[in-house]
Amino acid sequence: MMAVSHVVIGSALWWGVAQATGQPAEPAALGLAALGSLLPDIDHPKSWAGRRMALVSIPLAALIGHRGVTHSLLAVAALALFLGLAGTGNLAAPLAVGYLSHLLADSMTLSGIPLAWPSKQAYGLRLLRTGSLAEIALIGALGAGLAAAGAETGDLARAGKAFKEVLKVVESR
Ligand SMILES: [Zn+2]
Repeated sequence: MMAVSHVVIGSALWWGVAQATGQPAEPAALGLAALGSLLPDIDHPKSWAGRRMALVSIPLAALIGHRGVTHSLLAVAALALFLGLAGTGNLAAPLAVGYLSHLLADSMTLSGIPLAWPSKQAYGLRLLRTGSLAEIALIGALGAGLAAAGAETGDLARAGKAFKEVLKVVESR
């Protein structure tokens, strides 16, 4: 999926989790969910995260390739360990939710994700092609839903502003 799609899906998923668990939709948490949603593609040197952390992304891409270990159950287990150590009542939670949203989103694309890495077997719903009209329509609908929800509460209006700032950064790359 495209970086913007990951940001929208990560933010929407965190917003849902925050609502369900009675937490305010803090702008900082929403920003972290957006960041988390971009992290798995650190295995691609040209991705948003990969360009910022070339010291990690270049060797990772050379050794493992794109959509490898960072898109697998191993990464989910590492994330669970990280959450176990950091606790869920803090900013680690939106980061983790963002990360998971990326795997969920990529699993909707035709290439799927290698959940059982190092096995190359790909898993997923395989509903749409990256960059396709279907992806753009889905992201447009989700983005509009988030914006509508944001108009209703003051918290979300602030969060929406922070979210727009993140989008601006992503789109300028
Ligand atoms: Zn990915």
